[in-house]
Amino acid sequence: MTNAEIVSKGQKYVMNTYGRLPIALVRGEGSRVWDADGREYLDFVGGLAVNSLGHCHPKVVDAIREQAGKLLHCSNLYWIESQVELARLLVENSFGDKVFFCNSGAEANEGAIKLARKYAKKTFGPEKYEIISLKHSFHGRTLATLTATGQEKYQAGYEPLPAGFKYVPINDLSALAEALGPSTCAVLLEPVQGEGGVHVADFAYLQEVKKLCRKHGALLIFDEVQCGLGRTGKLFAYEHSGVEPDIMTLAKALAGGVAIGALVAREEVAQAFSPGDHASTFGGNPLATAAGAAAFSALLAEQMVENSARMGELLAAGLQEFCVKYPFAVEVRGLGLIRGLQLKVDGRPIVDKCREKGVLINCVGSDVLRFLPPLNIGQAEVEQVLQVLDDVLAETEAV
Ligand SMILES: *Cc1c(COP(=O)(O)O)cnc(C)c1O
Repeated sequence: MTNAEIVSKGQKYVMNTYGRLPIALVRGEGSRVWDADGREYLDFVGGLAVNSLGHCHPKVVDAIREQAGKLLHCSNLYWIESQVELARLLVENSFGDKVFFCNSGAEANEGAIKLARKYAKKTFGPEKYEIISLKHSFHGRTLATLTATGQEKYQAGYEPLPAGFKYVPINDLSALAEALGPSTCAVLLEPVQGEGGVHVADFAYLQEVKKLCRKHGALLIFDEVQCGLGRTGKLFAYEHSGVEPDIMTLAKALAGGVAIGALVAREEVAQAFSPGDHASTFGGNPLATAAGAAAFSALLAEQMVENSARMGELLAAGLQEFCVKYPFAVEVRGLGLIRGLQLKVDGRPIVDKCREKGVLINCVGSDVLRFLPPLNIGQAEVEQVLQVLDDVLAETEAV
């Protein structure tokens, strides 16, 4: 089928929940993808931070092929070798002691909220259940996680929302100090906000957040669903500040493109869950965790985290030049290979023009261009994107 045929069939049969672009991607290799009409693109969207190893990384493809021929599913009534292996890799490379697997970022955050509430109730009593999260955050689309998401546009129409959630602005310590109290069970935040427009939480702020949490017996939960796993130039984003959370959630890139989510916690916190307290039919299934173990091993073995830091600097320096050259380009934000270019004009026509020139980028909100390339991207590809963007920005008119 052609792009046009897939689009019209999709409009007929698929629910209209996404503002989709008029192409269908059918194949990918490394940092390149091809659409149904055979056009090639350089992919700096990366499946929204899922395709961190590039498309069809051979080690992930091999692991999936091998596991598919052995065992796809068996349920968590039994031990699963690849699940145990991925848990070991996560524990041995992070602050955490125990892992729970699920299937998505929202499900991971839902699990983190449940674990934090269970822990607080067992440790301190029934009145400690409030979750404080940040404005402009994004934590998912289930009822609890969209309530934790500090953006009204995601909540409108779904009321009544679950009780026990509060919001404070990012990097505002006094607002947090005021909001925190005996009923606070956890502070939930993204060390780098992705969907909210690529905003980095200050490292000094995070250190103070942790102290405030300790003072009030509240847990600190980091949502690293988007910014974890090498994206920021460190294996986990919390390493930049040196602040270890009590619980961390992961998803997007964890299984190299297969659906997965995970909850990593300190032992004492993890112990709040007993058998029967939380579960997921597909969570940690053999296929996803075999892909995950292969992806995690390749991420480390191929030094992609270091490359993310290096290429991130190159990308940021190039974007910074646009802020000097173009009056409507205001600010570059981010760490490693999660970068945002704040504009004073609508970014969506720029995304369209880049696509017409063979480069895929994405726009969050309407005025932040976001770049999420594979972590094994090369210098030539970064330069190609900067060149195409420069050409497009040169044609863009300031308002
Ligand atoms: C994408 C994202 C989620 C939600 O993940 P899903 O897999 O879409 O449920 C949660 N938190 C952050 C920070 C994300 O970027």
